[in-house]
Amino acid sequence: MKYYETIVVVAGPCGLAAAIHLEQNNIEYLVIEEGNIVNAIYNYPTHQTFFSSSEKLAIGDFPFITEAHKPKRNQALVYYREVVKHFGLNINTYEKVTSARKSEDGFTVETSKGQYKCRFLIIATGYYGQPNKLDVPGAGKEKVFHYFKEAHPFFNQHVLIIGGKNSSVDAAIELEKAGSHVTIVYRGNDYSKSIKPWILPQLKSLIKQGKVAHYFNAEMMDIKDDSVIFSTDEGTVEIKNDFVFAMIGYHPDYRFLKSLGIELEEYRNGLSPVHDPETMETNVDDLYIAGVIAAGNDANMIVIENGRFHGSRIIKDILRKKSHI
Ligand code: FAD
Ligand code: NAP
Repeated sequence: MKYYETIVVVAGPCGLAAAIHLEQNNIEYLVIEEGNIVNAIYNYPTHQTFFSSSEKLAIGDFPFITEAHKPKRNQALVYYREVVKHFGLNINTYEKVTSARKSEDGFTVETSKGQYKCRFLIIATGYYGQPNKLDVPGAGKEKVFHYFKEAHPFFNQHVLIIGGKNSSVDAAIELEKAGSHVTIVYRGNDYSKSIKPWILPQLKSLIKQGKVAHYFNAEMMDIKDDSVIFSTDEGTVEIKNDFVFAMIGYHPDYRFLKSLGIELEEYRNGLSPVHDPETMETNVDDLYIAGVIAAGNDANMIVIENGRFHGSRIIKDILRKKSHI
């Protein structure tokens, strides 16, 4: 069984940021990632433009320069590949971590390809792999998606979008542009404050022009093969439907976190892993979290912009512990 002083579970931007600090501080480490690097960003909508400017997505003080203020998904993929090359990060890709358990001599990490031991474990598994699910009849139908990739297949189709934040608004704008008949149902009574201010006017304009139908205070009731039914202030509405995008957010893999012994506490509308924000150490000694999982299922509190700094706090604490040996 191979031993590394530290194992970082995964190569999202926040895991990579932690790995750079480990590399720079000569702490022996391995990053293990189930896909390729920045797998979640790879799985974003193909034409996604980040809401962050490029310098706010940069890690390890490695410049991220784009001609436009806000980079596109593909530019970020190029950037993070260059980061990995530049720092020579030690990453095993296409290897899924299936479990980890702590004993007196550290953690034993099991993966799809083998077993490892380490003293410190950093978990930065994000949330994008676990979409929130609807609890209505028909929610499991094949025509219901939780990820939006591209608009072309939905040309001339009747598309319902559920949710009222950035993923739903972005998808609505792109789908309308590609000739879909778009309806948005949102459970809130007003536009969410989380919608980026430069996106909202575009949505409002489409609604005003009658190009997108939009319902507030709307709750899904049923997803049938050719229609959808939802409640509104004016009563029940049934409309023709070919496809549904349930853009209702994502959540960390709570089962995985709990299996590591990490306690979860109530936070905003969901659960967040118990941790010390100064060090990012969880209730399990020597087990740290980084990135968006620290906010549980509040996807708008920790993003790359601030999650990229978790690594430096963790490595500071690891160095402190190592100095006490
Ligand atoms: P992730 O990037 O999600 O990385 C987690 C990694 O863990 C993935 O690579 C996954 O493959 C891997 N993994 C999971 N489980 C395992 C396992 N068991 N074993 C091995 N590997 C595993 N934030 C911003 O700051 N600015 C933006 O502009 C922005 N735009 C966004 C746009 C979209 C469409 C979305 C969905 C999010 C956006 N975010 C943005 C929010 C968030 O910051 C990103 O989701 C970011 O990728 C989170 O980084 P992370 O490193 O915490 O986790
Ligand atoms: P999100 O921010 O978590 O929003 C989920 C939406 O779904 C909210 O409006 C929520 O309602 C609603 N919802 C949740 N559960 C529901 C249920 N059971 N039934 C009906 N509605 C439900 O998810 P997201 O929009 O996918 O965003 C995820 C992350 O990606 C965020 O960090 C976001 O900023 C980021 N993102 C960035 C960009 C970009 O850079 N351009 C684009 C898209 C997403 P409430 O409003 O009532 O909570």
